[in-house]
Amino acid sequence: MPPLDVRTLMMMFTVNVFAVALALPAIMGWRIGPAARQAVLSTGLQALGWFGLVLSTLWRDLWPDQLLSTLAMAGISAGLVTLWRALALWTGREGRAWPLWTLTGLMTLGYGLGFDSYPWRVGLANGVLGLQMLAVTHAALRHSPQTGWRWRALIGSCMAAMAVATFWRGVLGAFFTASYPYLTAPHPVNQAAAVLSHVTLLLSTVGILMAYREEAERQLREQAITDGLTGLLNRRAWTERAEALLSDARRYGQPLALLMIDIDHFKRVNDERGHACGDQALQLLSRMLREELRSGDLAGRYGGEEFCLLLTHTREGPALSLDQRLRQCLRLQSEQELGFVLEYSAGLASLGQGDITLDDLLRRADGALYEAKRAGRAQVVLAAR
Ligand code: GH3
Ligand code: MG
Ligand code: MG
Repeated sequence: MPPLDVRTLMMMFTVNVFAVALALPAIMGWRIGPAARQAVLSTGLQALGWFGLVLSTLWRDLWPDQLLSTLAMAGISAGLVTLWRALALWTGREGRAWPLWTLTGLMTLGYGLGFDSYPWRVGLANGVLGLQMLAVTHAALRHSPQTGWRWRALIGSCMAAMAVATFWRGVLGAFFTASYPYLTAPHPVNQAAAVLSHVTLLLSTVGILMAYREEAERQLREQAITDGLTGLLNRRAWTERAEALLSDARRYGQPLALLMIDIDHFKRVNDERGHACGDQALQLLSRMLREELRSGDLAGRYGGEEFCLLLTHTREGPALSLDQRLRQCLRLQSEQELGFVLEYSAGLASLGQGDITLDDLLRRADGALYEAKRAGRAQVVLAAR
């Protein structure tokens, strides 16, 4: 090992963590998702922790070493827990963080109270930090189909390597104190760990930025397919998926029904009660559609106050029952929540031999909807085959 000066490496590392902790919020801003916020918080805590640690070695006489290094350990450990939280949120597997927080608390307590025993505090702190690094590794590397594996592999492998170095340091401090008698001792493992932490900082920052970008891309993709007001699929996305479901149903000879819904006298709602009330009505109906439909069904906002439901594996009878249920719910809920009764007309078309494309089915449902309006509204009409 070249004669690396561990103290200088640690000071440089502290400077770098600080720079990252300031740079990340500066470039990401504060309007970020909860996962990214945890990641930013994590670098801030690491920065404070390392600052305390370096300070404790610099001004041993000026500052109470015990207090500073105890707080430093708490900061570094809390930085790992928040990084774990960030990964859990990004991978959509938010688990319980309290065991890790408990470890942080117990370690801080044990470290502060047992400060006089060097082997105890070094063994304890590195043991717990190592465990928390393994937890971060696990959070990064476990199966998560909706997130990319590259940035997770980057963070996971860095953290695994750091965990090994940290455990090693703990074992040296606790059981071979002569070869690792103080924090900046020039033991090869200590030097390797100091170098490794630079690499880890660099690569996990890259990993965090990649995760952040992936999250932003996912949000954009979702925005492109959802209707902003109701949260349902927008017309284009609904049509795309409906076409796929229709061709499946045709291929396997399964029943399929299309219910086209149009709110009655909606213009009046807007005119008499205001646009905001109209929006609320649209949201109410959309929420009910989400609650009442089965997971295989497809609901979309087709136009202003027009909604399309594609009901998979569904024949006319059950589709008509669904329509009745929806109607009843809407009547009750709208009276309760909006103060007036909201009703709709609907056209129902079930997949027949003549329906080759989605347009065929839509055309028949639209015709039936028109009939329902003409016949006095607030009813469903079954389209002729
Ligand atoms: P009908 O019973 O024949 O369906 O009459 P209607 O008034 O419901 O139908 P019409 O097509 O004349 O009016 C639809 C209205 O829906 C007009 C439009 O201003 C309103 N609308 C469309 N999109 C929105 C929206 O996002 N929010 C609100 N508040 N109103 C909307
Ligand atoms: Mg309409
Ligand atoms: Mg209408």
